[in-house]
Amino acid sequence: MRFNEIKAPTPTEESLAAEAAAIHALLDAGNRAAAVAQWDAARRAADTWSALVHLRFAQDTTSEEAKAAREYADKLAPVATGHEVAIKRRLLADPDRAGIEALVGAHVLLLWETDITTFDPAIAGDLEEESKLTARYTALMASAKIEIGGKVVNLSGLAPFAEDADRATRHAAEAARWAFFEKNGAELDGIYDALVKLRHGMAVKLGDANFIPLAYRRMRRVDYDAADVARYREEVVRHVVPLVAKLLEARRATFGWDRLRYWDEALIDPEGNPAPIGDHDTLVEVAQTMFDRMDPRLGEFYRLMQAGGFLDLKNRPGKAGGGFCTSFPTVGVPFIFANFNGTHHDIGVFTHEMGHAFQCWESRHQPGIDQLWPTMEAAEIHSMGLEFLTHPQMGLLVGEGAADRFRRMHLISSLAFLPYGVCVDHFQHEVHANPDATPAERHEIWQRLERLYMPWTDYGDLAYPAKGGRWQAKQHIYNSPFYYIDYTLALCCAMQFWVKSRHDPKAALDDYVALCARGGSAPFQDLARGAGLVSPFAAGALAEVVREAEAVLA
Ligand SMILES: [Zn+2]
Repeated sequence: MRFNEIKAPTPTEESLAAEAAAIHALLDAGNRAAAVAQWDAARRAADTWSALVHLRFAQDTTSEEAKAAREYADKLAPVATGHEVAIKRRLLADPDRAGIEALVGAHVLLLWETDITTFDPAIAGDLEEESKLTARYTALMASAKIEIGGKVVNLSGLAPFAEDADRATRHAAEAARWAFFEKNGAELDGIYDALVKLRHGMAVKLGDANFIPLAYRRMRRVDYDAADVARYREEVVRHVVPLVAKLLEARRATFGWDRLRYWDEALIDPEGNPAPIGDHDTLVEVAQTMFDRMDPRLGEFYRLMQAGGFLDLKNRPGKAGGGFCTSFPTVGVPFIFANFNGTHHDIGVFTHEMGHAFQCWESRHQPGIDQLWPTMEAAEIHSMGLEFLTHPQMGLLVGEGAADRFRRMHLISSLAFLPYGVCVDHFQHEVHANPDATPAERHEIWQRLERLYMPWTDYGDLAYPAKGGRWQAKQHIYNSPFYYIDYTLALCCAMQFWVKSRHDPKAALDDYVALCARGGSAPFQDLARGAGLVSPFAAGALAEVVREAEAVLA
């Protein structure tokens, strides 16, 4: 299978209506099994098409053709959702619940019960508008042309400068980054203000008091709620914030700085953060050896992705920022998108997205499209878990002499991520509980929460983040609301894999592969427990991994 051979017909409003009518006709005739099978095939085809369209836009945000295709897809999405929700409603209303459950599984019924509360034809126009606003944010971020070190780079390309061993270079990088945000501050505030009000309005139309419960249902969270998440954030304050403060203070002392500034946070290793042993081509090649050594299942899968052209990892002008894994459910082979920049982030994003991709591949035989991917906090266990499970092979990617330093850096940056991650989550809860807050008040909310979760932050002369603007660089806040806590929950699980692999690497990897194969067949905490992990919501789960990390770092 090759990526450029994937074909997916472009649906139209008419073709979607005809498909839905055919499925309803099968249901009218009492042929539920055939209806469910035909519907599953139709959804797979539509998802493959949509994934291709969104991927091509991300690969070149300057292409008018790709942009038009994405706009067309975004316009059609609510129409497809409307048909889907109608079919879900009809199947859920079937008096023979046991019969339906035997066809699709109990967990899928639970997901559908959640899904049908997130859509009504009355919000179709709002959903299209939401896509337009998020595309505007993506394009604005991709448009950044920042001059540094005699080069012009985009925001992704700034990363090597932001963690350069030279302090003045790091400062220059952050000054340049935040000058871009300052320049576009009014537009960034405007886009977000429109998104907050739009999302709040959709929630009200659907009968919710505000966007928070709707956001949880859109994320298909069926086994925990906002109170669980709030308690988890408190655990981070109790167990992680003091440790990170201690690690940063130790770094300040090691370097002999009078104060540790914001631009110093990215330089974790006193000798300079270990970089990959080579460029894109080298990394892609040595990764084959790494995966072969880890497990034949991983090795074979990576060989297939590489041979089929399912990787786009080079940074280039006009390409959307960040990294992601997308999939084509008619094909079963996923695709990895990233922006390599020559730093350790290349290794981070590569092992992360490979974890998503491997799960997608391992779970391709799950019976229905709803079971292919789990909810995101579970999905991020696969990605962050692989970041840790590749630790023993790190010598291949950074050189044997730097492997220990890389592992230490990754552990410290993972710990430091937790307070930031829960801060992003807490911020969104406050913003959406107060949808009428002004942009200035939102910046104040961020500042207050930053003091709680990252009391060490010292922006020095960086005026824009010092005024509370840092959150605007986080694309999830704009494009994937309430997603961010998922990374922090998954990290608690991924670190449990790390602990296990230190004592029994083979067992840790087997548990990991088994978890991947379960795909989205169960809710988050069920999947975690099935892999021998303690749910992050259970007492002591976070404290335990933090204790192990502290012992290793001491
Ligand atoms: Zn991920």
